[in-house]
Amino acid sequence: MTKCWICNAQANSGEHRIKKSDLKLSMSGKPSQTSPIYHRSNGENKRPIGSLKAEALKFNKSICANCNGSLSQPYDYSWDILSTYLSTASFNTGEELELNKVFGNDSDANLINVHLFFAKIFGCAVSESGFSLDLEILAECIKTNMYCPHLYLKIRNSENGKTDSYCALSDIQVSRDESGKLQYAHIYYTVGKYTVDIVYSDNIVDLDLVEFFQPNNTSQKIIIGGAEYTQGYQPEYTS
Ligand SMILES: [Zn+2]
Repeated sequence: MTKCWICNAQANSGEHRIKKSDLKLSMSGKPSQTSPIYHRSNGENKRPIGSLKAEALKFNKSICANCNGSLSQPYDYSWDILSTYLSTASFNTGEELELNKVFGNDSDANLINVHLFFAKIFGCAVSESGFSLDLEILAECIKTNMYCPHLYLKIRNSENGKTDSYCALSDIQVSRDESGKLQYAHIYYTVGKYTVDIVYSDNIVDLDLVEFFQPNNTSQKIIIGGAEYTQGYQPEYTS
């Protein structure tokens, strides 16, 4: 039996790699066999998906229905709000996104929720890849609605030469120092014209995280970051 990486119950639910509402936001019309969206699965060429219900759009079952449902619903919901806002807005790199314009007076709680939505995506990606990383702190934060001190987010324009209907969740990029200790694990989540970089690190001394934010260090504003992701290490790729 596979256990839910968040609460240890039986894992009977697979989170969407890209949230269904995000796929809808970036699409015009419905996907069908004749007008499919594309999903890139690990190590394989992208394959066409004819329906938003397709199993290929989901991670392997690594969490339980409760964690994927009522526990994380507020997190999904806060990301929906921000994602919808981003899909209609237009920002240059370096520009500030004012959180009260997105969330009204409740931006602190909503920003923690957004952070935890990506904690869930990251944990599911790690779980599925078989990459060895202790997810206990992430799980605890998701269960207790606290931000995770090892998780950093950056929001940026995609600038990938693709159309605005391109959605993707990347493989996990891992970097280690000379002693083999993990420097960071990084994935990105692309919905059309914008992308969220997700970095997990408990060893940030030499990392450039200037454009990244955490819910505790954000003064009601997020800077839209640049498209480059360079940390001066030779990364290895997993999954
Ligand atoms: Zn669970």
